[in-house]
Amino acid sequence: MRANSPLRSAVVASSLLALLGTPVFAQGGAGNAPADTANDPIRAMVARLDLERYKATVKGLTQFGDRRQGTKRNRDAVDWIEAQLKSYGCTNTERIKYMFQPPTPQTPAQPQDSAAIAARRAAAARGTSAQGGGRIRGNRARTGVNTDSLKQPDARIRAIDAEPTSPGERQEVFCTKVGTTRPDEMYIVGGHMDGHGWGEAANDDGSGTAIVMELARIFSSPDVQTERSIRFILWNNEETGLNGARAYVEQRQALQGKESPAGSKKYPEPKWLGMIQHDMMMWDHGMPRADGTVSPEQRPEADVNIEFQSAAKMADGAQKLAWVFHSANEKYATDYPAQVGPHMTNTDSAPFQDLIPAISLRENERGREIGAGWDPNWHQPTDVYTTYSDKDFRLGLNAAQTTLGALAQLTGATLKK
Ligand SMILES: [Zn+2]
Repeated sequence: MRANSPLRSAVVASSLLALLGTPVFAQGGAGNAPADTANDPIRAMVARLDLERYKATVKGLTQFGDRRQGTKRNRDAVDWIEAQLKSYGCTNTERIKYMFQPPTPQTPAQPQDSAAIAARRAAAARGTSAQGGGRIRGNRARTGVNTDSLKQPDARIRAIDAEPTSPGERQEVFCTKVGTTRPDEMYIVGGHMDGHGWGEAANDDGSGTAIVMELARIFSSPDVQTERSIRFILWNNEETGLNGARAYVEQRQALQGKESPAGSKKYPEPKWLGMIQHDMMMWDHGMPRADGTVSPEQRPEADVNIEFQSAAKMADGAQKLAWVFHSANEKYATDYPAQVGPHMTNTDSAPFQDLIPAISLRENERGREIGAGWDPNWHQPTDVYTTYSDKDFRLGLNAAQTTLGALAQLTGATLKK
């Protein structure tokens, strides 16, 4: 709580009192919660999020290295996540199964000389249109996926990441908080558990996966009740083209809202009300400098970027959902503000964006910022747990506070006394 210490709030409150001359703020006064929300059950739920727990969950995920899809370390990570969800009380875990065949590398119809390839790359680097829409401005730095094991200096991590991917069956896990009065409707909350680049995929996307897991923990507490359902899902194969999220939509879209067995009040696939994705949640160090390097410190202006896609069929609903999250951030996030933008792209919310309101939360805008090299660890061997400071982890925690606050409002969450 750097920005708003109890001491400082007290000073501000007492000087206001002096100004006003009447004790309007005298009631309550417990802790640093403003008086009008002291009895807000959502605030009590948000307070159950904890920086050290969040860090421990990210750390737990990094024991499986980059968790590349189609490897034992990826399957072990799915098993570990499922065991964690169960231990939190989210015991009704299920798995989506699908086949994944990597596309065969395309050979160009005509041989191209390296000069032509270099010219094309240079032209692309000069272009200013960002993926998902919008324009890239200012300094840019290189981006790409590291495929060279030797760029990982830590022999231990290199060994964990050694097994190459194989085609075949893939699995991804989810669990569901069942609503009390509207079990037939749900919000889907996701992050992707796979990664690549010969690091530990700590930020991309251990940081988002850990948010989903921490929210599953808090919503599964025996004293938390929600009217509507919430599904917590950890996508696989995001990095290969959102294949896990696409498989989910394919397999389950038509099952929405159907009671099964009839009369049981059980809904294997509640109607989708919205999809909220978390992907790269910790690093907001600003624009690269002119020489392509990036500040080693989290910038004080860091924020949570909430994006919807303005070209999607469900853009209207998605935009409204984004503003609900923006306002939940103002109410519940302790340190960092949120920004809303119209260019959501390149993550697991995309397969949902024409069907239901879908948004993503990120450390930066995906297209014009991350795409311009604002995160030097993206898909690199440096995306390891030890790269990040508490200021970085705290941005992830603030995104968790934002989503928890918004979801609790949207699902009618209450605390049993
Ligand atoms: Zn990602």
